[in-house]
Amino acid sequence: MVYLLHFAQPYRHARHYLGSTDNLERRLQEHRSGAGARLLEVITEAGIDFTLARTWSGGRALERQLKNRKEAPRLCPLCRVQLTLF
Ligand SMILES: [Zn+2]
Repeated sequence: MVYLLHFAQPYRHARHYLGSTDNLERRLQEHRSGAGARLLEVITEAGIDFTLARTWSGGRALERQLKNRKEAPRLCPLCRVQLTLF
């Protein structure tokens, strides 16, 4: 499955991480300990929290497709909520 993580605060220009896994729970535990992805290692070190924003059923092909669209803020329900609040 493909998952989208939303950071509590932006890190430089990054506010999201899009990845794919066949074991989301284990993958999230890895990310929480700062393992598995350089960006998440960096934001964990910076003390920035992240939440699972949404998931899609699919694999790496879908992950690449979504990444290429570069529209994580529009794909992210948490960002959409903020847009309607402010
Ligand atoms: Zn977001």
